[in-house]
Amino acid sequence: MPDAPPQVKAVEQELHKCNRCGFCQTRCPIYRVTGVESSVARGHIAHLQATLDGALPFDDEIRASLFECLMCRACTAECPPAIQIDRLISAARATYVGEAQSPVQRFIFRRILTNPRALRLGVRVLGWLKRTRLTVFAKLLRLLPWFDRGYSEGPAMMPAPKTFLRDRLARREPAASRDKRVLYFVGCAIDFAFPDVGEASVDLLDAAGYDIAVVQNVCCGLPPYSYGDIESARELARKNIEILRAADADTIVTDCASCSSFLRDYADLFPKDDPIRAEAESTASRVRDLSEFLATIELPPLREPVRSVVTYHDPCHLSRYIQITGEPRALLQRIPGLDYRELPEADWCCGGAGSYALSHHDLSMRVLERKMDNIRSTGAAIVATSCPACIMQLRYGAARFGVPVEVAHLTELLRRAMALQPRPEQNRHA
Ligand code: SF4
Ligand code: SF4
Repeated sequence: MPDAPPQVKAVEQELHKCNRCGFCQTRCPIYRVTGVESSVARGHIAHLQATLDGALPFDDEIRASLFECLMCRACTAECPPAIQIDRLISAARATYVGEAQSPVQRFIFRRILTNPRALRLGVRVLGWLKRTRLTVFAKLLRLLPWFDRGYSEGPAMMPAPKTFLRDRLARREPAASRDKRVLYFVGCAIDFAFPDVGEASVDLLDAAGYDIAVVQNVCCGLPPYSYGDIESARELARKNIEILRAADADTIVTDCASCSSFLRDYADLFPKDDPIRAEAESTASRVRDLSEFLATIELPPLREPVRSVVTYHDPCHLSRYIQITGEPRALLQRIPGLDYRELPEADWCCGGAGSYALSHHDLSMRVLERKMDNIRSTGAAIVATSCPACIMQLRYGAARFGVPVEVAHLTELLRRAMALQPRPEQNRHA
């Protein structure tokens, strides 16, 4: 039997921490759907340990179960030794990069994500295809036996705004110079899929009297990291560290929960003896999720009532990775007229998890159905959240499961309450 891959050997000590108590079963969204041990943290750990002991080959079956994990960290919250299963999973998935990563994925991670111009062009072409005939084309592809039908839902899930956030920001009148300065990190999903959200965030910072610096940052690196392509994630992190160093801002804010948490984890990407690690730590220490930042500054008065029942969904990367749960709720509850209702299982993953809704469509939809049932039970007219991937998934879920709820980013609701007008480019979605 072939030896376990070195990436798995590297996390052996962490595997030994598992006491097999099974508490991780209680809140694992995937285990709740499948009911099989191989879906949950204890099962993943047992698999990896068995490959180290030579009892099982590290084969496609094990790999497939590793890719079923949402990396949501719900199990970590229940686990007595707090094993960070997402790190074990990412290390084990790294074996796939060497042996089975598709050339297309490698090209996207190494050549497109590192090149903002190429990324913009690629997204523009996809948006154009969506606005023309891609939806029909994707449905036809479903007929092919080897085509993963989840990917054919891509056009239905992915918004295709006609203008990207960076184009809109470039057209804004520069504000007069101000004492307070903040750097706004533009997440890819906000730029290309939810520019309205980005504008709402920038409007809030502007109204609060901040000079807002925007730089040509690249993708934060979370997508390749999640697939185990650590080298690509490191390359993106290196680029961002350099760009953010040159920008010389004390505070870096972002309205994407995934970017917030991953930027704060940059140091862990590099070995202890790598000189860039100290700088990665310094960059991470300056990053604030926008909700966290807004909770600490003086905002203009929230005068415009939002007379709706509103609930809040916690993105995993905000609640489980960087423990931000109180700030978004407190901000919502400052809005006059708003009737806040807590969402049952608010911190359970919605099943979005990057491209999971495409790569594991059926599983993702079963996780999403539970989330939408919970949202329906609150009677909310609006569900707020702080992550573009969650917004995409929840909007798709509202349409698919017939839940009459508006899905909004927290900053969009705050802007509404400040009576700041959306800019004319908004609502021009295909
Ligand atoms: S990270 Fe989430 S999906 Fe993965 S094993 Fe833990 S609870 Fe389950
Ligand atoms: S909760 Fe933690 S220690 Fe217990 S079985 Fe799950 S992974 Fe192992």
